[in-house]
Amino acid sequence: MATVTLPTEIQPRSPKGEFRNEPFTNFKDHETARQMKAALEHVASHLGHEYDLIIGGHRLRTEGKIKSVNPARPSQVVGVHQKAGAEHAEKAMQAALEAFESWSRTSVETRASLLLNAAEIIRKRKLEFCAWLTYEVGKNWVEADADVGETIDFLEFYAREALRLTKSETPIQLPGEHDQLMYIPLGVGAVIPPWNFPFAIMAGMTVASIVTGNTVILKPSSDSPTIAAKFIEVLEEAGLPGGVVNFCPGSGASFGNAVVEHPRTRFIAFTGSRDVGLEIHERAAKHRKGQIWIKRTILEMGGKDSTVVMADSDLDAAVDGVVAAAFGFSGQKCSACSRAIVDAPVYDVFVERVREKVATLVVGDPAVNSNMGPVINKAAMDSILKYIEIGKKEGRLVAGGKAVENRDGGFFIEPTVIADISPNAVIAQEEIFGPVLAIIKVNGFQEALGVANNTEYGLTGAIYTGSREALDIASRDYHVGNLYLNRKCTGAMVGAHPFGGFNMSGTDSKAGGPDYLLLFTQAKSVAEKLGSAPSRVGI
Ligand code: NAD
Repeated sequence: MATVTLPTEIQPRSPKGEFRNEPFTNFKDHETARQMKAALEHVASHLGHEYDLIIGGHRLRTEGKIKSVNPARPSQVVGVHQKAGAEHAEKAMQAALEAFESWSRTSVETRASLLLNAAEIIRKRKLEFCAWLTYEVGKNWVEADADVGETIDFLEFYAREALRLTKSETPIQLPGEHDQLMYIPLGVGAVIPPWNFPFAIMAGMTVASIVTGNTVILKPSSDSPTIAAKFIEVLEEAGLPGGVVNFCPGSGASFGNAVVEHPRTRFIAFTGSRDVGLEIHERAAKHRKGQIWIKRTILEMGGKDSTVVMADSDLDAAVDGVVAAAFGFSGQKCSACSRAIVDAPVYDVFVERVREKVATLVVGDPAVNSNMGPVINKAAMDSILKYIEIGKKEGRLVAGGKAVENRDGGFFIEPTVIADISPNAVIAQEEIFGPVLAIIKVNGFQEALGVANNTEYGLTGAIYTGSREALDIASRDYHVGNLYLNRKCTGAMVGAHPFGGFNMSGTDSKAGGPDYLLLFTQAKSVAEKLGSAPSRVGI
């Protein structure tokens, strides 16, 4: 049974002023670039270490292991991890339940201090964390910096949000009563993040859970457990009591299912693909013996995101925005632009300008800050190449189209552009999650909008146009959770762009927004009759 230490080690801290987004690192500065290279060297000397399961603050080893490797050089092992099986789910649950007894009663100021302490630790070692992201998932410096910055933002933002939430008041105070509205924790949650924002999304869902008083079982993606293990080290340094976050790498099918199905699991915070999200939704919906609640699911899923380019747009900005959003991090963002929907009068020139721009992208090792690194693993590479073959039959190959040979066996794919794609083509409808852009020709704004809305997803979207009227209509009718006008469809910032999609893109949870923490709480109304002689009232 886990021992629960009370969070006496958390150094009390107050937020420093209003929330502000973490500034991006300027790697064009020579000294900063030198420091980044030094961080990469430092982390290189720590690759291949073995990390433990952490349940109730205790470190455990298992027979089965998960090896995470560098996708740019798969023979390089980044970390060796224990593999939690279904049998660990009960142990982790008991530890989380026990910790919940004290953590849920810990003051919100203390819980928020844990997040602020963690933000401070990460900020001081920012480039080191960037380097871990480069090695484990193939992010170049800029993409890694955005992921680390977003992690810090989530910590700072949710700490303030939790403090704000405890000050909530009922809209009305009845005469002769004291009426309160309290947002109390739910219980034990399963946190199941993807590998593509392995720091920010993993940390964001975890700390949103715990700052509101819940305890969690964190199952990181098997492609990125090391960065999650490093985050747990940060939380421990920041004062995390045992059992509040139980760190359990493991397979989705065995450990993941066991935790989702456990009758004492109160909520599941998931970000990942549509199919896994739907499976979790279904498993969580089924009532299990001994279960006394309806499990809450917070599910953020895939996307098939579009950029509309109208004839009256600033074409330079549109080309830059589409290429950045399509090929940043090799198109492996849920928000990536995978469809450019282009007005006929500028179609040919747009396609040619995109081709020229894509030709300048350097594909290679992200550790030397190439524009485009590898895709995450062999299965992803095979799947993307299959879509490219389908796309070659569905349209006209304009750029790329194949894997990039390299002596290290890294999973590199050329930035690929396929034009003359019909709106209902396979590559215009299915999430590819790789560096593939489909270009679709349309006649006018209404047709463009119709095509933009014609998938089952609804995550991000962008439109470039000089028409005020078109922007206003798009604001109303372009049905996505995150719409961008005259800018690219990637790069959501915490606070400014609360993030989450419609339809098959998920439950629209709006991470980094003012409503997010509510999802991790339940509201309790407490009404007290004032005065010496409380009267009895009816229902
Ligand atoms: P994935 O669905 O394959 O895996 C996500 C997580 O679920 C991993 O931790 C995985 O181990 C776990 N998992 C797999 N099967 C499971 C099961 N049966 N039970 C419980 N857990 C299980 O997704 P991925 O490849 O890691 O990430 C890419 C996907 O995530 C893309 O579809 C992308 O669009 C999406 N994504 C969405 C958002 C968003 O905010 N909407 C953000 C990032 C990524």
